[in-house]
Amino acid sequence: MENKKELRTWLDDLALNHPLVIAGPCSAETEEQVLKIAHELKDTDVSYFRAGIWKPRTRPGMFEGVGALGLKWLQRVKAETGMKTATEVANAAHVKLALEHDVDLLWIGARSTVSPFIVQEIADALEGTDKIVLVKNPVNPDLALWLGAIERLATANIKNLGVIHRGFSTYEKTKYRNTPEWQLAIELQSKFPDLPIINDPSHITGKRDMIFDVSQTALDLNFDGLMIETHYDPENAWSDAAQQVTPSTLVQIMKDLKIRKETD
Ligand code: PEP
Ligand code: MN
Repeated sequence: MENKKELRTWLDDLALNHPLVIAGPCSAETEEQVLKIAHELKDTDVSYFRAGIWKPRTRPGMFEGVGALGLKWLQRVKAETGMKTATEVANAAHVKLALEHDVDLLWIGARSTVSPFIVQEIADALEGTDKIVLVKNPVNPDLALWLGAIERLATANIKNLGVIHRGFSTYEKTKYRNTPEWQLAIELQSKFPDLPIINDPSHITGKRDMIFDVSQTALDLNFDGLMIETHYDPENAWSDAAQQVTPSTLVQIMKDLKIRKETD
């Protein structure tokens, strides 16, 4: 990670005058659902349309994603709306398929970041790519695992890196689904000041009513962007129904957030 300045270039190249916004449903459910949400987001501040197609569910027997079929829907999103696309990859086969279908941003989920074998497999499959690769923090509050994953990707010559802070599991019952443990994100920022850091208030809070406050805290801490799960019918979403917001709520959240300028 010698040329740390290079880490920021993908984000700076977007030349945004607001935080980077990645939005879209937790899961791609149907082609119609994906395209309807994408069209509702296309004239907003959203730069990347997210949709999970391989879903890491805690218990089996739940909806586990539509699989590779969803990649074609993401291609349609890009062709019809001009938004770039993003999805989670959890093994080398996912990476191969995502690259073949020209997904622009791939993220490594919290359940994968905990496994150095999986991270290494993904890093090897992505070797030298110029796609954007974002690493979610591991499920458990272990900064070393998060750093280790970043280092494995950087060593595989993946230049357009970044991280996503999605909160951590704890034994204590808190108001959060995953407690933010902001100090760990701050420590990561201090180790890699040029590595773009995106906040994921959806998975931190687990509740749509709390998304604004967590987003504001993240921006106050100089985070570079937000990933917010968005669905036209959140209550009936096939996964993470309690935390998704509608496209119009997302627009309102972005309008209400106080954005810190460099000069503040
Ligand atoms: C997701 O982004 O939908 C997801 C499964 O996230 P995480 O890995 O943070 O649980
Ligand atoms: Mn989700």
